[in-house]
Amino acid sequence: MDRRTALKHSALIALLGIIDVKKLFAASGNNSEIRGFHKFNLGKLELRVITDGHILMKPVQPNFAPGISSTVVEKTLDANFASKSEVDLSINILVVQSASRTILIDTGCGANFGKDSGWLTENLVHAGIKPSEVTDVVISHAHPDHIGGLTDKDGQVTFPNARVYLSRIEHDFWMSNSPDFSKSKITDEGLKKMVVAVARKNITALKPQLHLFEDRAEILDCIRIKLAPGHTPGHCVVQVFSGQESLYHVADLVHSQVLVFEHPEWGFEGDTDFELAVKSRRKILNELALSRALVFSYHLPWPGLGHVKKQGEGFEWIQQPTVLPD
Ligand SMILES: [Zn+2]
Repeated sequence: MDRRTALKHSALIALLGIIDVKKLFAASGNNSEIRGFHKFNLGKLELRVITDGHILMKPVQPNFAPGISSTVVEKTLDANFASKSEVDLSINILVVQSASRTILIDTGCGANFGKDSGWLTENLVHAGIKPSEVTDVVISHAHPDHIGGLTDKDGQVTFPNARVYLSRIEHDFWMSNSPDFSKSKITDEGLKKMVVAVARKNITALKPQLHLFEDRAEILDCIRIKLAPGHTPGHCVVQVFSGQESLYHVADLVHSQVLVFEHPEWGFEGDTDFELAVKSRRKILNELALSRALVFSYHLPWPGLGHVKKQGEGFEWIQQPTVLPD
């Protein structure tokens, strides 16, 4: 490397050093400047977004848009300046603090997906919350990247003092003798087995703490449940409210800020009922666009806050501008 190239290189590193996203996310060590969470208020509630890490999905197809012409899909990705080789899924965990409760919505991957995820408990501590202080956990659905953090690698319960809320439909699906994947496009039998095993392991371990809810349940004075089936049978959108203010946690209704917004019908291979998921996605994105509601997304880019806008036959994700984590 010649001197000019070296200088350019170090200038670039210095510039990247200001916004080193990995450092922000993998908050660790003694550096109190790096905490890796985002804090904001919703009415009387204090909300934090904490990262559990991320999951790299590659290739784009057939994870997304299975069966759609790759030329058409690549053209859409290209037009939106998105990678044609991978989709990087954030794992954004919402923490809701009311006067008396500390509520987690979903728990990340735990020890199920390697070192790129499973950072929730460490980052909770950085945000000033000990796992023992979590009073409630609301599970949007029982996939391993949402329920996996309920137990650690040894099977011990991570949040020993928390009540865990789960949809009755979701519970019954995963605990049934043979969960039905006949309407899914998942072809990997090993993946199906793993997903079922992690759901069962965690539901069983948490049985003494488990509270099953029905569609439209209102819990903890600040949460309303709305069933949005398809991704899984009991997959829920979680409305967090305080006074007149609301935020809609859309869980796994969407996994890409480009493909399933522009073409909700292109779908996601991991959906348990592919067509029902398309229907729920289109219906709820339409409602969110019409109501101009604040939306929180588990898998869209950090910290997952934004709005949904109608765009042609589809939709557009408008990310809310956010300063660096607190
Ligand atoms: Zn997920």
